[in-house]
Amino acid sequence: MAERRAVLWLLAAAVWLAACDRPAPIVAFSGPTMGTTYSVKAVGPLPEGLDAAALQADLAGLLERLDQAMSTYRADSQVSAINRRDDDRPIALLPEVYAVLREAFEIHALTGGAFDITVGPLVDLWGFGPEQAGDRLPDPARIAALRAHVGMDKLRLIHEPPSLVKLDPAVRIDLSAIAKGYAVDALAERLEALGVENYLVEIGGELRVRGRNAEGRPWRIGIERPDPAGRRAGWLIEPGDAAVATSGNYRNFREVQGMRVAHIIDPRTGLPVRHDLVSVTVVAARCSRADALATALFVMGPEEGFALASRRNLAAFFVSAGEDGYRTRATAAFEALWVRSDPSSP
Ligand code: AMP
Ligand code: MG
Repeated sequence: MAERRAVLWLLAAAVWLAACDRPAPIVAFSGPTMGTTYSVKAVGPLPEGLDAAALQADLAGLLERLDQAMSTYRADSQVSAINRRDDDRPIALLPEVYAVLREAFEIHALTGGAFDITVGPLVDLWGFGPEQAGDRLPDPARIAALRAHVGMDKLRLIHEPPSLVKLDPAVRIDLSAIAKGYAVDALAERLEALGVENYLVEIGGELRVRGRNAEGRPWRIGIERPDPAGRRAGWLIEPGDAAVATSGNYRNFREVQGMRVAHIIDPRTGLPVRHDLVSVTVVAARCSRADALATALFVMGPEEGFALASRRNLAAFFVSAGEDGYRTRATAAFEALWVRSDPSSP
């Protein structure tokens, strides 16, 4: 009898192992959002009562609500309403907008002001906002005039009830450097609430993973080589259950009067960042944080940014343009995630 039970147990174990080996079913879909695209992969059988179409409709509805709240491209968004307000009375905030602003203030403080959601007018002036600029470098007097209304000290966030005060009514906010990450978190949390345990969600390159991929292995994430010509995966990490965000100027830049102008502005100077950094990748538990930190560390540059990331034990990877190719630097927390740290090896 005991023998029979042992055989049955072995059989059950073998079946279970085989099940683990077999690639799990995968549901994948994508669509447009926030001026870019989103994609979702859910691995394993979907929870009872949920099919792929219903799941996609649910998540697309969620994204639509977030875009509706935070877009600077939509006149009817809450962010646009905040930007139109020209008095200093408290503005009641939607819960999502409050959550993003709270994190923005935190990252602003952590990075000594390198992350700043009020740089919008300067982004526009340098030609990356909804209104395209001309083909000349902006006039220094114009930069100075706009800088008078840039700075998060011109905003006050009130926690109870969640509201925002514009101490300088001319100040404008732009959540582009954090909103995609926040939306990734919202998708991830919605999937978890629906009982999906293995997934990859991504918006415009910012992503978050949990559990296992279709092969039953931990998710692996490729980090592109910063090559304007092509999108080749170069480096490879296993982030665990975490989010990965990258900021860079290798794709989104313009050439104006011979100067390479990036879309990321150093709020401390009012000028586009000018160092030789081409990208910064950050891994963190939440994607809103990874997204904001990647932008901030990119502003701070390869020395100051790397020093802050190391001191704070952040997982960050810096790629700079060198004489012949790239120079890279990873913090200790990032080193722990490598699958392939040398992009030239197969
Ligand atoms: P990301 O791609 O997440 O690095 O976000 C870049 C976008 O954030 C830019 O296109 C601008 O709209 C905005 N931005 C530029 N500079 C900053 C900054 N220093 N802090 C916050 N947002 C910024
Ligand atoms: Mg960002």
